[in-house]
Amino acid sequence: MNTSLSGLLNKNSLPKWTLVGALLAILLVVALSWILSAPGMRIILVLCLTSLSGAVLARFIYAFKSHRSLKHKIWLGFLTLFSALLVFLSIQWKAVSDKGGEIRQEPFRIAGNLYYVGTKEMTSFLLTSSQGHVLIDGGYPGNTEMIIKNIGILGFKITDVKILLNSHAHVDHAGGLAALQEASGAELWISEPDAELIESGGAGKRNIGLMNFLIYTGLAKYPAPHIDHQFKDGTKIVLGPIELTAHITPGHTPGSTTWTFPVTDGNRKLLAVNTSSLTVIPSSLFGEKYDAELQREFKLSFKKLRSIPTDIFLGPHASFFDMAAKLKQRDTVADPVAPFIDREGYSKYIDKSEEKFRKALLDK
Ligand SMILES: [Zn+2]
Repeated sequence: MNTSLSGLLNKNSLPKWTLVGALLAILLVVALSWILSAPGMRIILVLCLTSLSGAVLARFIYAFKSHRSLKHKIWLGFLTLFSALLVFLSIQWKAVSDKGGEIRQEPFRIAGNLYYVGTKEMTSFLLTSSQGHVLIDGGYPGNTEMIIKNIGILGFKITDVKILLNSHAHVDHAGGLAALQEASGAELWISEPDAELIESGGAGKRNIGLMNFLIYTGLAKYPAPHIDHQFKDGTKIVLGPIELTAHITPGHTPGSTTWTFPVTDGNRKLLAVNTSSLTVIPSSLFGEKYDAELQREFKLSFKKLRSIPTDIFLGPHASFFDMAAKLKQRDTVADPVAPFIDREGYSKYIDKSEEKFRKALLDK
């Protein structure tokens, strides 16, 4: 045995050794993450953290057995607890982030052949026809089961979903698309500017470095679905009697899409609008590099959205169009569609978003 190894085992160098070991393990994970950048990386990360905790625990027991100083025991005890906590938190964090903390929402008919099948906050809309259905958005990766269950409760089959659409390529709306695609066999349409994000499971040139790092390491990556068709602004997607128009309203992501489609409810024809998110992501806007591009995009989107003669106001988050309040309102009115016909709410949403956007610019 050489002197360096006996030095490592020397009781006085024990805390240093543990620290060096911990740092090496972290560096190894980081290096591997960059090299492999695969979704399975989180498993490797958890394995590394587990091994690290195991090693520290073994040293801890060893230190207790031999007559080490109290200082050593406290130090090792702290490291053991810290490592165990790290492993526990990374597993918990993954479980929670997969579902996005979402809870189930009873599915319901909004109007005509338009149904709500999402969770309490992450929206998913189902447009049905005898020739197949269209599903917009897939929530977080862990929301798929709830969406499929909701479709079943309404009396429809996931296998009859022929077209899958997306509002924008963030994990909370695109995370479940791969699983939904697999369960349905549907064809996925993605806007050209969001294709890069979708194909990489969320990584894109505009993301701040930390975000891309979390995606490359698999910690924030969603399962990438297969893109069957890419579309441009103004594209019409038709399935039997269903016809949707894609309005690319960029800003929140480069290819954020607002979907408009007529819905026939009894003898009225209503234009439903699923707006894109207009939330300004501070890290993007404040990263100088894309400032001009983002400003141009947001301004264009506000203008475009104002020109749409909206009847039914929808969005990627239920809170954007006050879904909970509208559902409650339904109990007090004779026409269950009425609360969702909300031109005023739609205009207010654009006004408020534009105000926030201007404020973000002023605060810069
Ligand atoms: Zn988003």
